[in-house]
Amino acid sequence: MRHNGGCHCGAIEVTFESAIAPEAMEVRACQCSFCRKHASLAVSDPAGHLRITLRDPTAVQRYRFGLSTADYFLCRRCGVYVAAILEEAGQHYAIVIVNALEEAGRFSQPPLAADYSHEDEAARRRRRRERWTPAVIEAP
Ligand SMILES: [Zn+2]
Repeated sequence: MRHNGGCHCGAIEVTFESAIAPEAMEVRACQCSFCRKHASLAVSDPAGHLRITLRDPTAVQRYRFGLSTADYFLCRRCGVYVAAILEEAGQHYAIVIVNALEEAGRFSQPPLAADYSHEDEAARRRRRRERWTPAVIEAP
């Protein structure tokens, strides 16, 4: 299944592909201070694929905090938080934010509150490599 989405103004587009039905996909409510302020819900599928297309790269704000292992992609024009990306050895792994997807309402599993604050940097990178979606970032 293919899910399209992105920010509000069109500067950032995403296409999330997964064989898992959205109604069956785990939805995570990360409890970190950034995600709580956004009330963001995230999904990923390590067997899936995420394409992030930067239609206007100048509008993309990458934000890092804490252990600084991932880039949080926000649109600085319209304010939408779209995805978070880990880069390791030239590979990208990402989560996509449910509300940035056009069919957000189909991701209907009750959100799991996820607290990763106990992780050290190695554990955080390992979890993301194993659980996040392989991703590519394009700037056409
Ligand atoms: Zn935007």
